[in-house]
Amino acid sequence: MEDVIIIGGGICGCSLLYELSRYKLKVLLLEKENDVACGTSKANSAIVHAGYDPEPDTSMARFNVEGNILIERLCRDLDIMYKKTGSLVVGFGEEDRRSIEKLLEKGNKNRVPDLRIIEGEELFRLEPNLSREASCALYAPSAGIVCPWELASAQAECAVRGGAKVELDCEVRGIKKEGGGFTVTSGRGNYQSRFVVNAAGVDSDTVSRMVEPEFFAITPKSGEYFILDTTESNLVNTVVFPCPSKLGKGVLVAPTVHGNIIVGPDSKDFKRGDYATTAVGLEYVRRNALRSIPSINFRASIRNFSGLRADAGLEDFIVGESREAPGFFNIAAVKSPGLTSSPSIAREIAGQLNRSGLAFEPNPQFQAKRRVKRFRDMNEEERRAAIRENPLYGNIVCRCETVTEGEIIDALERPLPPRSLDALKRRCAPGMGRCQGGFCGSRVLALIARHFNLKPEDVPKDRRGMYIITGETKKGGAP
Ligand SMILES: Cc1cc2nc3c(=O)[nH]c(=O)nc-3n(C[C@H](O)[C@H](O)[C@H](O)COP(=O)(O)OP(=O)(O)OC[C@H]3O[C@@H](n4cnc5c(N)ncnc54)[C@H](O)[C@@H]3O)c2cc1C
Repeated sequence: MEDVIIIGGGICGCSLLYELSRYKLKVLLLEKENDVACGTSKANSAIVHAGYDPEPDTSMARFNVEGNILIERLCRDLDIMYKKTGSLVVGFGEEDRRSIEKLLEKGNKNRVPDLRIIEGEELFRLEPNLSREASCALYAPSAGIVCPWELASAQAECAVRGGAKVELDCEVRGIKKEGGGFTVTSGRGNYQSRFVVNAAGVDSDTVSRMVEPEFFAITPKSGEYFILDTTESNLVNTVVFPCPSKLGKGVLVAPTVHGNIIVGPDSKDFKRGDYATTAVGLEYVRRNALRSIPSINFRASIRNFSGLRADAGLEDFIVGESREAPGFFNIAAVKSPGLTSSPSIAREIAGQLNRSGLAFEPNPQFQAKRRVKRFRDMNEEERRAAIRENPLYGNIVCRCETVTEGEIIDALERPLPPRSLDALKRRCAPGMGRCQGGFCGSRVLALIARHFNLKPEDVPKDRRGMYIITGETKKGGAP
């Protein structure tokens, strides 16, 4: 019998797993895909929002502002890429100025620190490439950027080192309240637990309906993006938003922690599980981004992607215990700013579980911190030392991102080892650069296959079934 089963290994599930691993508990996370952070948590804008958007007095506002502070600390502890860039909501004319003044008021109510409206020289000094039509902007110095998938997997890794368990490829298909707990049915068998937490993202409504009457429904909303090459890294210094509209925060232009530029998203209803990008969506993104930053070079685009928002048409997240099924908790309808809010949501749910009878005794094996070696960020002396210690650090596999064989093997040996090309890319970045794995992909595939003693045909690009190699083309080798 587990103490807590968490359904879903996105940023919310992984943050809760890490938070609960502080205590001596039996906690199990069940994830239907072959890796954590495979859903919305890998496909978003990666912004640590300041907190002026949510309506005051909502839990979303509280989670956002608290999460903004907690993420910075977490990233320091877990060695995750993070940068406090600040953000701008840019206005073009009087109507926008009025919206920006309202945002400032909301932000002040939400206790966002150091918010102010800037204009003229100060604005263009901060963002020299901003359209000269811009008349003012809301400046939020506490906003930042982060690597969202690393934030999720690092927390899961530490939790597993501290004694928590993660089952991948394990889709939850049913939940039954029985006696003092729950039986959770999955594709890999049944599990018993005292408490269950639903962190299933876009599918959180489906999971909730397994155990309680329907009280919310998710309509996934897709958002499409361009990623620009690192050659464009000087385009913007902060996260540049337009004024928000009914459709959301609008098309942003921002740096990424990996040195690229991200441009997007749009917003439209989409099918569950459909991550396709569309010509119409990308054209909308392109046109709107150019209004803020007219010199964007879209020819430097190296990748497009789309993510799905878990939109239930609500002003707030659904975070808390079910009224109909005590012991069952929802972290549901977590649209933006869910990434920013995740550590604060995790604390809230941990507190609620404790108040519902889950005893907290400190876990002496708790892994609060971790360090990873990134060859790309080392100076010459550090590089020489890393190669002396492990000669595989002298073998560059991904030339675009300067990733060595040593880092790849280290990632394959950590808890929750990546078993697909994209999972490995999310751990240590091979294939993330300009060539998108065109040069290093086959070597990375061979390294994964060799490490786990798999046939190359059994290493997928990303999710199960997305195979790159399907068989030999020439039996018997070259003539
Ligand atoms: C376009 C876009 C831009 C965004 N930008 C930002 C931003 O800049 N800043 C910010 O703070 N937030 C942003 N967000 C929001 C943020 O990305 C999400 O709130 C957050 O990632 C949600 O995390 P999650 O863990 O709830 O869901 P997910 O990451 O979707 O995780 C849910 C997990 O549950 C698993 N699952 C589902 N059903 C089952 C089942 N039956 N059994 C087992 N596992 C299951 C899924 O496979 C998935 O891994 C953005 C979202 C989108 C779509």
